[in-house]
Amino acid sequence: MFPRGGTGCVGGAVPTIPGIVLSMERLDRIIEVDKENLMVVAEAGATLEKMLKEVEEADLLFPPHPGDEGAQLGGLVVCNAGGTRAVKYGVVRNYVKGLEVVMPTGEIVTMGGKLLKNNTGLDLMHLMIDSEGILGIVTKVIFRLYPCFAASATLIVSFDDRHSAIKAVPKILQTGVIPLALEYVERDVIQISADHLGKRWPAEKGMAHLIVIVTGSNEDDVYSQAATVIKVCEGLNAVDTLMADTREEQANILKIRSELYPALKPQVADVLDMAVPPAEIANFLDVLDDISQKYQTRIITYGHAGDGNIHPHIPLELYERGVLNDVKHDIYVEAARMGGTITAEHGVGKIRKAELPLCLDDKSLELMQGIRKLFDPNDILNPGTALP
Ligand SMILES: Cc1cc2nc3c(=O)[nH]c(=O)nc-3n(C[C@H](O)[C@H](O)[C@H](O)COP(=O)(O)OP(=O)(O)OC[C@H]3O[C@@H](n4cnc5c(N)ncnc54)[C@H](O)[C@@H]3O)c2cc1C
Repeated sequence: MFPRGGTGCVGGAVPTIPGIVLSMERLDRIIEVDKENLMVVAEAGATLEKMLKEVEEADLLFPPHPGDEGAQLGGLVVCNAGGTRAVKYGVVRNYVKGLEVVMPTGEIVTMGGKLLKNNTGLDLMHLMIDSEGILGIVTKVIFRLYPCFAASATLIVSFDDRHSAIKAVPKILQTGVIPLALEYVERDVIQISADHLGKRWPAEKGMAHLIVIVTGSNEDDVYSQAATVIKVCEGLNAVDTLMADTREEQANILKIRSELYPALKPQVADVLDMAVPPAEIANFLDVLDDISQKYQTRIITYGHAGDGNIHPHIPLELYERGVLNDVKHDIYVEAARMGGTITAEHGVGKIRKAELPLCLDDKSLELMQGIRKLFDPNDILNPGTALP
């Protein structure tokens, strides 16, 4: 049985053997936005877009923002989705307070509740989070909410070279300013997304950009954080800074960034999702250049630089040349060598299983298989997903 929302990037919900695809889309009620406890209770097939609408109407904030609002709440939980805002607010795991789960054996189990602290027994709820749908079917979620931030600004800081841009990332974080988002993009790449949308990318100088979103309790707070960021970047030879403070300008920048993957998709065979220690990103990008050179191609790369999470896009032509798996393997090996991981937020799904031993030892894999067997003794839920 394969529960399915449909926006995952690693084939998790794709049935590869005969079975039942379980569409969750009609289980889509937002049951309650609880303003007293700052929580939302919803059915797991509701989309992120639907939940955000109701949460925002209540003047509250669900901080994580993975790029596709068509993802369902159950999918977000079992993939522990991340996205651009994880730098300041962390990933979906930090917001899950309760779950209702249908076990593969048919029992319904309630985990957690409207609680901020809970040490009762082993934490099954956190095992469900990031389980990629192999331990149970999530049918209801309780997420923690926050009051909206009062003010925000979006900076595009431009650099003539990638190293200066990437070097600025840990330096910004070391000042104590924790941006809402801290993204790395290259100008010719983000231009593809702007063209795809028929919009204008506002930054015209430099080849590498940092998109930095700062939020705060008032405008002075935001401007002071922005000034700190700009000072760090100017010290590292930033050639230009553009600050958007109106809602429309900021939304325009975020929209162009969010549509990058759909704009590139027709030319892409796979989007990788590695995390390396944040201070290693520049080295990792150099390694990607070496691998690009080895295979005579360009591996477009951008990502959530503030989290050390980079998305190398493997061009379709490498698949056509029959070297796709070799290129991917080279990249995985280098990420692991730097103390990184083969997936930071998209998960293992069906297509990253072979590489798991690069990051996990035999005992860890054995323990994970044992847990899976305990939850799903008949191996009926998402067979072939997440674990070898
Ligand atoms: C344009 C685009 C941008 C994206 N940006 C981001 C990003 O910034 N950050 C990020 O982390 N991800 C991102 N993603 C990936 C994707 O949106 C997330 O992985 C999301 O969490 C998947 O949710 P889904 O409901 O679509 O799940 P699906 O793709 O349907 O399923 C994913 C896995 O979860 C299982 N599953 C689904 N629903 C349930 C359930 N109710 N109970 C148990 N198992 C279930 C499936 O069987 C499958 O194994 C992006 C995807 C796209 C297309």
